[in-house]
Amino acid sequence: MTELLNVRDLVVEYTAGGGRVRAVDGADLAVAAGATVGIVGESGSGKSTLGLAVGGLLPRGAVPAGAEVTVDGLAVPLLAPAELRRLRRERLGFVFQDPVGSLDPTMRIGRQLRLVVPDAGGPAALRRHLERVRLPDPERVLRSYPHELSGGMAQRVAIAMAMAAEPRLLVADEPTAALDRQVRDQVMDMVFAIAAETGTGLLLLSHDLPEVVRRCARVAVMYGGRVVEEGPSAEVMADPAHPYTAALARSAPGTAPPGARIEPVRGRPPVLDGAAPGCSFAPRCAFSVVRCTEERPRPVRVRGRDVLCHRAEELVGAAPPVRLAPP
Ligand code: ATP
Ligand code: MG
Repeated sequence: MTELLNVRDLVVEYTAGGGRVRAVDGADLAVAAGATVGIVGESGSGKSTLGLAVGGLLPRGAVPAGAEVTVDGLAVPLLAPAELRRLRRERLGFVFQDPVGSLDPTMRIGRQLRLVVPDAGGPAALRRHLERVRLPDPERVLRSYPHELSGGMAQRVAIAMAMAAEPRLLVADEPTAALDRQVRDQVMDMVFAIAAETGTGLLLLSHDLPEVVRRCARVAVMYGGRVVEEGPSAEVMADPAHPYTAALARSAPGTAPPGARIEPVRGRPPVLDGAAPGCSFAPRCAFSVVRCTEERPRPVRVRGRDVLCHRAEELVGAAPPVRLAPP
């Protein structure tokens, strides 16, 4: 496959305090050039860990194993540190939740931006990068320190820096979660608009299923460190094939079937020790049978989507369709 991003059987374990957490447990994902893909899943499902692995950014103590992660055909785990930095500088952009934390508090914005703009560029070029993220008064922003900016402005600067080199893929990890509600939509609109303008692929990590399916052409649902279902957002919402996708959809007003009761996904998140032999969703699944607790599901092709569920084929049509919220 000539995808922009390919992740095959990614496993990432953190060792912390003598324990081990298998944060990603055999995840597969592909992102085509210029595509918008959202990864959704509850807290702890491994979204951020997968995002970091894409850029070779995992913290010390995290062990990626048995994985194929390629960006533009380059195998991320095999790159030397200098090659990895170059890949990140030229082809990947990252935006994280905390905008101020991603900027250097000791440097004016102009100086920080100049460090990441490939053509160095004069003041006019720097201004253009800030105009692209719809920042009013770019002159003043260039002279400011991060603490002098609002959260929304700081995140726009962080996005401008991530997009400065026109990367092939922008990984945005809950980019608006720390912002005030009023500015969230504006920042999200802007991210999708510049990704479309520049042809940059977008991988949005979020726990907000309604927002993801409204904005991203494709959705990948993560549970217990695996992508349990991936496909075109509208199709996945019209007919979720994995019981977790259906349960997640029913848990949010934006995607629950019309007139249905909003129910939280029942039960507890999985223990991430990698020891459970079966499907990690089985203990919470309304459709689980003995096989689900004994045998790890492999991808099943259902309606053109890869679904990690033993019963996906029999269950086609069993889950009530969910609603794709109007934009
Ligand atoms: P959230 O929605 O809360 O951001 P997430 O889906 O991004 O969650 P991750 O942050 O990837 O999930 O975490 C997956 C698991 O790995 C969690 O159990 C988390 O506690 C653990 N984990 C994440 N980072 C580390 C770390 N640096 N050291 C040890 N464990 C970690
Ligand atoms: Mg996260």
